[in-house]
Amino acid sequence: MDYRRSYIRDLLASEPPMKASAYGWVKTRRDSKGVSFVQLNDGSCFADLQVVIQEGAIPESELRRVTTGACVRFDGMLVQSPASGQAVELQATTLEVYGDADPASYPMQKKGASFEFLREIAHLRVRGNTFGAVFRVRNELSWATHKFFKDRGFMYVHTPIISASDAEGAGAMFQVTTLDLENVPRVDGKVDYSQDFFGRQAFLTVSGQLNVEAFAQAFTNVYTFGPTFRAENSNTPRHLAEFWMIEPEQAFCDITGNMNLAEDFLKYLVSHVLDHCRADLEFFNQRIEPTVLETLHHVAESPFERITYTDAIKLLEASGEPFEFPVFWGCDLQSEHERYLTEKKIGRPVIVTDYPKEIKAFYMKLNDDERTVRAMDVLAPRIGEIIGGSQREERYDVLVSRMKELSLPEEPYSWYLDLRKYGAAPHSGFGLGLERMMMYVTGMKNIRDVIPFYRVPGSAEF
Ligand code: ATP
Ligand code: MN
Repeated sequence: MDYRRSYIRDLLASEPPMKASAYGWVKTRRDSKGVSFVQLNDGSCFADLQVVIQEGAIPESELRRVTTGACVRFDGMLVQSPASGQAVELQATTLEVYGDADPASYPMQKKGASFEFLREIAHLRVRGNTFGAVFRVRNELSWATHKFFKDRGFMYVHTPIISASDAEGAGAMFQVTTLDLENVPRVDGKVDYSQDFFGRQAFLTVSGQLNVEAFAQAFTNVYTFGPTFRAENSNTPRHLAEFWMIEPEQAFCDITGNMNLAEDFLKYLVSHVLDHCRADLEFFNQRIEPTVLETLHHVAESPFERITYTDAIKLLEASGEPFEFPVFWGCDLQSEHERYLTEKKIGRPVIVTDYPKEIKAFYMKLNDDERTVRAMDVLAPRIGEIIGGSQREERYDVLVSRMKELSLPEEPYSWYLDLRKYGAAPHSGFGLGLERMMMYVTGMKNIRDVIPFYRVPGSAEF
């Protein structure tokens, strides 16, 4: 195979006429008098390459194999296209079929197949327009994340996926064990985890934060970006059992610095996709969610609103909206509340700070009022909470008494407490769920459609 093969993206940007080979998967073939048109795509960009085959240029017995889904190569001349809608087309003279796709059974031929149906063929849906666009955007968001932090001097840290801290309070956890579930060893009626693989109970991580905090206390500005797991049985369009989280942590940084970083980061990601995924975003805007481009420009350009939880509750109480969940000081903000604030009341992203300590994690810094903590959640129109973060409690005694209040065992956190015993810097950080960001950027309504192979209660196929 020619090692200098070009992506279709590059062919579409080339200066015709020139000899070219085009590799890819057939989207469609259309035959008219004396000529066939093939739309070819290799995933490198939204646009297909139009391949034109004059009658007789390729033997009919071979051309017959060019059906939707087939994997092929065409060689020929790239020329200026006489048709509108594309700059160039390939006048093909030879064809090689690498893999046929039987039209009687290939499942990706139906136009307008539902997203539900496409989830059942997640291994093939990636060849279609929508999922091509989704995963190109996902790639750009991931790359832009690393670029953003690298350019600002942050160190990338690989935090562990298996964790023994058994109650970070972030959500239910998956247990990791090699014990024989048919025959679990017991002492005094309880499971004897000393016989388990790690000599203790272990779980899949719900967040890399606690580990990344240790690195912030040595390298100042750090971040982790990896898979996280939650065994919460919430079958919603916004929750996955396995998702990717981006978690920066900064030493010598208070909640204001943390909010600034979160806002800069979201704006950077949005500007990056606007610059690098134009055609894909235009598709989302046309076919998925008509406000995508407008809201992205809005986010990139306007400053985020910043309000305290207490003021947010006042706004909600004064709203006169018929909320399903009652609003009172101390209540956890539900999606409907978050969306009212960011969509109806304020009309752009909002950062809500200083939540009641009862509804936030133990590691958040206690305010002087002793009722609220230095939490900050970024709420975005259409999806609600997109980022959750805080300034961390760096005072040893306060942290220990918070853990006591919540009946958290000290032993699994002894290393975390050490970070407060020895040279503790004030520090802050946050978590951005990559898939929530994907939903925001693409307008896709179900989180299962923005991750390559989704894991949710009752389903871990592929
Ligand atoms: P939610 O209230 O939406 O369940 P959370 O309060 O549990 O979120 P955090 O523990 O603060 O969320 O996690 C940080 C970020 O991770 C969230 O802001 C969100 O972007 C993302 N996130 C949390 N849970 C999930 C999930 N089950 N699937 C996908 N993304 C998630
Ligand atoms: Mn949750």
